[in-house]
Amino acid sequence: MGEYKIAVIQGDGIGPEVTQEAINILKAVGKKYQHHFTFEYALAGGCAIDSYGQCLPKETLAICKGADSVMLGAVGGPKWDNVPNAQRPEKALLGLRSQLGLFSNLRPAKIYDALADACPLKAEIVAGGLDILIVRELTGGIYFGERGYRKGNYGVEAYDVETYSEVEIQRILKNAFTVAMQREKKVCCVDKANVLETSRLWRKVAEEMKASYPQVTLSYMYVDNAAMQLVRNPKQFDVIVTSNMFGDILSDEASMITGSIGLLPSASLGKGTFGMYEPIHGSAPDIAGQNKANPIAAILSAGMMLKYSFHLEKEAEDIENAVKAVLEEGMRTPDIFSEGATLLGTKEMGQAVLSHI
Ligand code: NAD
Repeated sequence: MGEYKIAVIQGDGIGPEVTQEAINILKAVGKKYQHHFTFEYALAGGCAIDSYGQCLPKETLAICKGADSVMLGAVGGPKWDNVPNAQRPEKALLGLRSQLGLFSNLRPAKIYDALADACPLKAEIVAGGLDILIVRELTGGIYFGERGYRKGNYGVEAYDVETYSEVEIQRILKNAFTVAMQREKKVCCVDKANVLETSRLWRKVAEEMKASYPQVTLSYMYVDNAAMQLVRNPKQFDVIVTSNMFGDILSDEASMITGSIGLLPSASLGKGTFGMYEPIHGSAPDIAGQNKANPIAAILSAGMMLKYSFHLEKEAEDIENAVKAVLEEGMRTPDIFSEGATLLGTKEMGQAVLSHI
């Protein structure tokens, strides 16, 4: 029995619709296991621009900082396409990550047997299901390094610098080893150590850390090989940990293997147990307000929150099993619908998952 305070940023477009279904599920899990989840709502993104004149008001940050974790829907939409760049709704995400100290991004790529047809790979490659977790460093590396233009011998040169400190590498590897302990206990560190000095430092730090996690098997792979292995033999992976840029690319590649954007959750973690949980999809303005959005990514994000922030493993498993059961029963929102399945709206899909909790 526990008390958990959750900040909820529903955001824009389909954000409020899908987060509502995730909240319903959390309430049901709370009732079943006698946990007390409280939800405090805050604005970020386009709706915050409308109400506060800025995409990430200080009131929202205060609510998030006072909570045990954050659930986010999605932000952005055509209504705010013309606001100045620094104030775009999506900037709220960067602000939240940096202000809340969230330096690692966890992106699972899972294939459910019932949806194996949606996977673009041959059936035998993913037979028996697939369950990979990509842990991407989120606040360092080349995306945040020194950059600019300078005069070179052959005209203007542009440069972007990749820098990683030992501390940055240690903290992301620690998160990767820790989540691996809750999974199959395998970590593959993906890098380009045959070329990059930063990668060689990642390997040195990983070698030093592995003694602290004797149950975890650590391996290394060059990123070009990892990109190939993800389509050739993705089942060899459990947890992949990698730098910001490599993780950006590989996590999207892994998402495509699963076939649908409406099913994929994510987590951003910092030090300790605090995290922000959100579906990987955007605000889908084309289907907003029409009861068409798939709430499963948001629901699974709530499951990740239970697992990784609150360490409620059984409760998280209940959510995953409920989603699996609903898919096996042939329930589908329009994005994953195929002939012979039962077509459901957002609310009905939420209810269907709820009925299995
Ligand atoms: P998107 O993910 O919103 O939509 C891409 C396509 O996938 C659309 O056809 C949409 O209908 C569909 N889709 C997305 N989620 C779905 C769901 N749960 N169920 C069914 N179908 C779903 O990406 P986009 O169209 O490039 O972006 C729309 C807006 O969202 C933009 O303003 C963008 O900046 C923003 N965005 C926000 C986030 C975030 O908040 N984390 C992420 C990506 C994009």
